[in-house]
Amino acid sequence: EDVDYKKSQKFAAHMQEKNEAVSDFAQKKTLDEQRKFLPIYAIREDLLKIIRENSIIICVGETGSGKTTQMTQVSFEETNLLVLNQYLHESGYTKRGMIGCTQPRRVAAMSVAKRVSEEMQCKLGDDVGYAIRFEDCTSEKTIIKYMTDGILLRESLTDPDLDHYSAVIMDEAHERSLNTDVLFGLLREVVSRRQDLKLIVTSATMDSEKFSDFFGNVPIFIIPGRTFPVESFFSKACVEDYVDAAVKQCIQIHLGAADGDILVFMPGQEDIEVTCELIKERLNDLEGAKPLSILPIYSQLPSDLQAKIFQKADDGIRKCVVATNIAETSLTVDGIMYVVDSGYCKLKVYNPRIGMDALQIYPVSQANANQRMGRAGRTGPGQCFRLYTERNFREEMLKTNVPEIQRTNLANVVLLLKSLGIQDLLQFHFMDPPPQDNLMNSMYQLWILGALDNTGSLTQLGRQMVEFPLDPALSQMLITSVGMSCSSEILIIVSMLSVPSIFFRPKGKEEESDAKREKFQVAESDHLTFLHVYIQWKKSGYSNNWCSDHFIHAKAMRKVREVRQQLKDIMDSQKLDVKSCGNWDVVRKCICAAYFHQAARLKGIGEYVNLRTGMPCHLHPTSALFGCGFTPDYIVYHELIMTTKEYMQCVTCVDGHWLAELGPMFFSLKDSLKTRGERARKETSERSTMEEEMRLAQEKLNRMKEE
Ligand code: ADP
Ligand code: MG
Repeated sequence: EDVDYKKSQKFAAHMQEKNEAVSDFAQKKTLDEQRKFLPIYAIREDLLKIIRENSIIICVGETGSGKTTQMTQVSFEETNLLVLNQYLHESGYTKRGMIGCTQPRRVAAMSVAKRVSEEMQCKLGDDVGYAIRFEDCTSEKTIIKYMTDGILLRESLTDPDLDHYSAVIMDEAHERSLNTDVLFGLLREVVSRRQDLKLIVTSATMDSEKFSDFFGNVPIFIIPGRTFPVESFFSKACVEDYVDAAVKQCIQIHLGAADGDILVFMPGQEDIEVTCELIKERLNDLEGAKPLSILPIYSQLPSDLQAKIFQKADDGIRKCVVATNIAETSLTVDGIMYVVDSGYCKLKVYNPRIGMDALQIYPVSQANANQRMGRAGRTGPGQCFRLYTERNFREEMLKTNVPEIQRTNLANVVLLLKSLGIQDLLQFHFMDPPPQDNLMNSMYQLWILGALDNTGSLTQLGRQMVEFPLDPALSQMLITSVGMSCSSEILIIVSMLSVPSIFFRPKGKEEESDAKREKFQVAESDHLTFLHVYIQWKKSGYSNNWCSDHFIHAKAMRKVREVRQQLKDIMDSQKLDVKSCGNWDVVRKCICAAYFHQAARLKGIGEYVNLRTGMPCHLHPTSALFGCGFTPDYIVYHELIMTTKEYMQCVTCVDGHWLAELGPMFFSLKDSLKTRGERARKETSERSTMEEEMRLAQEKLNRMKEE
């Protein structure tokens, strides 16, 4: 009996192996075939030639032509040859550089790395890997590395010549993300220092002349596209509710139009979730409607669900992908025949009224809208339904997007460039320089945090802050906590703030999950509530079951733990002690020390006014302080979100005296009685003092240089 059993098991294993081999083969063949079908394949030799002959090239090609997935592999083959030559030339040279490819979006970096690892038949993280903030999936073996542009920017801090790389591909340059724009300036210099480095800048749009000019008139290589005509339909009248309109449009396509998948563009996660839900509901109500596979995609979606958009739906079932602008150029979904475009996207824009960046919904630009339309014509002729009028399009939409560098807070960039030794940021070679006001504002913010001194130079604190891959306020809080002996607690809080929402509120179980959540709430602080959750989770032995019992995302908590460890490693390397004082009032005071510039005073029930701007703002309903009967006079907040009202998210109650003590440049206790106008004048004069001091210092510096 025993023998028989083993035999059968062995047989099963054998069969499985065989099956795997067969499916491996099938997959390899199709992947290979797919690769050869891509437009880039046809011009591969020309591409190789131009890379060989130039240090920098601009490469333009329609979305889906194979830039992101193939260029790395092509460059790898090419630079390997180069390295070989070099090897022969100066014997003993064994260093082999990586091929780096930057992406403005985390999702794209991960998903494309996975795809390329499949094409190269290796495990993700071996030959092909990716790195995003707090997640490094590369190894000693890695030769092709996808990463966010932020990662490469940080790497340039410790490796200014990027010696680890033999080629850098800056992908999605047309997106003009803040980090990409800064990298442009830095890489231009790196290439002039390193003859052996190849830089390839890719763009999905034709406005590449500007890139070419910036890098000194470098060649532009165009990948001939294969596109089909797309018929475009504008709305006849203004659309009141784009979610509702999109749902109707999808149902109509699904019921009436020929086969082909649908791609819907929505501004963000909330709208995507609602849209998916509504389409599902309405189809359920329709008798005899064919099934539809509805798939959301946005950056915070877990990666296994993200991967679904690339899989073919079961035979005969239509796919409906509901996406943010990530599907505009970063990710290509094959087989789309219908595009439904809400005409909106979410953009991070500096809002002078609140004195910080806010993620808000804006109309897309004409360039974006056309890009979205193009998604319908990849595999055959398609149709695009635009949920705005032709007049909206022509008269209200900008031609192209305003680059991020011209519309967001630059505090992190300033910190980074300063620590790279670039003193005068106005002299830095930007493709489109940021407005001077923007730069000054960001410097002012850093000055408030103590990262810059009156002359605009980095302080000791500022230098330490650069080491952390965090927003300036958070790294300042972490460093400050060491002196206040509560770094153990603050380390956890900062880690919790660095991952997306940990609370989980499933449909149909709202009350149950809310009740569980309430149990964790520390009445005076959302930050402390986070701390409380983490400590309880730790007590449970970091248990997954504990998480699901309490409606907490286990995956998010594991991420928090990883982030905590990574930040702790940095603290160790900086000789910053991790210690606990066990007193949560001290923790609150430390939070106050980092956030004092984001403080508000009680005005009515649940209503506060911002202490600096006088703007009314409200407690978010998910806050521990909301409706708990305890209404503190002063609070500080982590961020503002703007929906129907201005909501403060993640709030902690503080003592008025602390504000006066910690932020003397802003508040004295009497201050709360003063008018908004007086406060504004005070702040303006503070700022002009700083600017004046900085100007004088700069002049002095210039004089010294001349002498
Ligand atoms: P480009 O960068 O020029 O827009 P890509 O290299 O991203 O083009 O995509 C080329 C092709 O590779 C796409 O048409 C798609 O078929 C395939 N592809 C890319 N990423 C994935 C993925 N994550 N999963 C499956 N297929 C993918
Ligand atoms: Mg691409």
